Amino acid sequence: MRTLITGGAGFIGSHLCERFLRDGHEVICVDNLITGRLQNIDHLRDNPRFTFIAHDVSRPLHVDGPIDNVLHFASPASPIDYLKYPIQTLKVGSLGTHNMLGLAKAKRSRFLLASTSEVYGDPEQHPQREDYWGHVNCVGVRGCYDEAKRFSEAIVMAYHRTHGIDTRIVRIFNTYGERMRLDDGRVLPNFMGQALRGEPLTVYGDGSQTRSFCYVSDLVEGICRLLQVDFHEPVNLGNPDEVTILQFAEEIRDLVGASCRIEFRPLPQDDPKVRRPDITRARELLQWEPKVPRAEGLRRTLEHFRREI
Ligand code: NAD
Ligand code: UDP
Repeated sequence: MRTLITGGAGFIGSHLCERFLRDGHEVICVDNLITGRLQNIDHLRDNPRFTFIAHDVSRPLHVDGPIDNVLHFASPASPIDYLKYPIQTLKVGSLGTHNMLGLAKAKRSRFLLASTSEVYGDPEQHPQREDYWGHVNCVGVRGCYDEAKRFSEAIVMAYHRTHGIDTRIVRIFNTYGERMRLDDGRVLPNFMGQALRGEPLTVYGDGSQTRSFCYVSDLVEGICRLLQVDFHEPVNLGNPDEVTILQFAEEIRDLVGASCRIEFRPLPQDDPKVRRPDITRARELLQWEPKVPRAEGLRRTLEHFRREI
């Protein structure tokens, strides 16, 4: 099996490269390093079944030989990153997805899109099921990411219906773990970095907004299972264990053993007030559910950040 992973030098992508190599695949990692890092894949580069191609997938890509799977994970993903690179985010979700579908069509590959819970926007339905169409402000600051992913889903379905491409769409909910960047601006690296440095923990708004955090190995297992089933509609993957952001700050502070205070900051525009996946579809289709409890996942991630800091 030969598997091409775009965004393979990023947080989730690097775990996927590792997993597919372990499963015996030849892995081609394509990344322009806009938000990823070579150090995420350093430990894989001696493997003769691993190739790294430095390339912006918003431009066409030619690869020699057959490809069995194209996993399209390239995209800035943290709000700080996509606010910094709104045009690149829109391009990789539109032109990048189009290019990678073209590659999958030429090679007759299976194609999997990394979509996101952000397609639901600031949801009016809770928890979010795959048949909910979402509540997105297309001209707001998060619109560049949300609409890029919504377009991606639309073009994936069009390629499936028109060209018969064997596609999958995974809607990923907040995922965390080793190899997140300490400075990526997401809530978990922010809180862990702040607690480790003894700085105040910055809670945006009053901290009553909720998220549901999934440990990366659970997500990777779900993605591998999804590739194996014949199903083309979107599938939510995430951990339904929901917490308020204030509670999350307190958990991390306690885990680090720090005594820092909590500092409240203004809530960013269009910040979703609630988020929790309904994973009935994944449970039934993939016999999948998350296995790593938050306390355990946070402990492992903290070890990583302790080394990094
Ligand atoms: P990340 O920023 O660590 O990884 C994204 C990778 O894509 C980076 O290595 C980056 O350099 C690369 N990239 C971006 N634009 C590119 C381009 N034009 N050409 C080539 N490479 C490019 O983020 P992540 O958290 O690992 O997210 C990976 C994917 O999963 C993204 O598509 C994201 O939308 C999706 N996702 C992640 C989460 C999460 O909680 N981590 C949630 C929902 C969806
Ligand atoms: N957040 C926070 N403090 C921070 C960073 C984020 O309170 O230092 C909040 C943010 O407003 C959001 C939640 O944590 O409500 C998750 O933010 P993140 O950027 O991780 O991702 P999102 O789920 O919003 O895409």
